[in-house]
Amino acid sequence: MSPAAELQMMHGLQRALDEQRLRMAYQPKICLRDGSLSQVEALVRWDDPELGPVKPSHFVPLAEEHGLIHELTQWGLRTILRQWLDWCDEGLDTSIAFNISALSLQHLDFPDLVERMCRALGVPTNRLVLELTEGATQPLVRLMDALTRFRIKGIGLAIDDFGTGYSSLMQLRQLPFTEVKIDQAFVADVPHSRDSRLIIQAVTELAHGLGLTATAEGVETLDQLRIIRELGCDHVQGYLVSAPLEPSVLRPWIQRFRRAWPAMISEEKLALWGDVEADPLSERQI
Ligand code: C2E
Ligand code: CA
Ligand code: CA
Repeated sequence: MSPAAELQMMHGLQRALDEQRLRMAYQPKICLRDGSLSQVEALVRWDDPELGPVKPSHFVPLAEEHGLIHELTQWGLRTILRQWLDWCDEGLDTSIAFNISALSLQHLDFPDLVERMCRALGVPTNRLVLELTEGATQPLVRLMDALTRFRIKGIGLAIDDFGTGYSSLMQLRQLPFTEVKIDQAFVADVPHSRDSRLIIQAVTELAHGLGLTATAEGVETLDQLRIIRELGCDHVQGYLVSAPLEPSVLRPWIQRFRRAWPAMISEEKLALWGDVEADPLSERQI
C-alpha cells in the first residue's frame, strides 16, 4: 500500500472514530465438554463510505504505526463494556475477550485505566479477557509488569495465535497467562497432518500442566472439531460454531446452537475409530 493510501485510510479511521461509525462483532467460543457458550471475542468492524469494508488485519497495524491505536483501544473497551451491561440486563452473563495491541501496554497506566473503566460502568473485571499476540519488536516478556498488574486486578490474559511468529513455550511458563489460543493454521491442517495434531496435543498438555486453558481457533469442519476435542482442547471458536455476530443476535444464536450441538458430536465415536486405524497418535489417545 502506498504511503498516500495509508494516510487516506488513517484519515478515514479517525473520521469513523469521531463519527462513531465503528462496530464490534462478537464471535462465540464454546466449551467442548458440553457445548455451552464460554465466552465471546470482540472483533472490530469498519465499513467506510469511500473504502468499503476494511479488514482489521489491514487497519489495526496501520493504527499502531500512525498513533491511533490508543484511541481505537479506548473506543473498543467502552463499547464492549457497555455491551456487557446490555447483555447482563437481558440475563446473559458472558465473559468478553478483547484484542489489545502490545503497544497499549507501553502506557504504564493502561492496566489502571482498564480497571477504572470497568469500575465506572460496574462491569466485574473477571468478565474481561485481554488477547495479546507476540510481535517481532514487542516481546511479551518485556511487558511482564503490565501483564502481572492485569492479573492482580482479576482480568484474564490470553496469548493469541500461539505457535506462529515469535511466541514460545518459555513465554507460557514465565508470563501470567490464563489461556492459550492455538493458531488457526494448525487447526486447518489437523485432519491431514500428524505434525499439527502432535503440536496441538503438546500445547494443550503443556497449557493444562501450567494451569491454563487451551482454545483452538478457526474450526471450520466437523472433522476438525472432533479431532480437536479428542486432543484435549477445552474450547473452540470458528465458523463451524459461528461467524462473528451482531450483538443483538447472540441470544437467539445460543438457543439455536443448543439444539445443534448434540448433532455436532453424535458421530464422534465413529469418526475417531476411523482415525485410529491409520494413526498411532489417536490410538494413544483412546
Ligand atoms: P484474531 O484475534 O486472531 O481473530 C480471529 C480472526 O479470524 C478474525 O478475523 C475472525 O473473524 C477470523 N475467524 C474466525 N473464525 C474463523 C474461521 O473459522 N476461519 C477463518 N479462516 N477465520 C476465522 P478478523 O475479525 O478479520 O480480525 C483479524 C485480526 O485483527 C484479529 O485476529 C486481531 O488480531 C485483530 N483485531 C480484530 N479486532 C481487533 C480490535 O478490536 N483491536 C485490536 N487491537 N485488534 C483487533
Ligand atoms: Ca484474538
Ligand atoms: Ca488468533
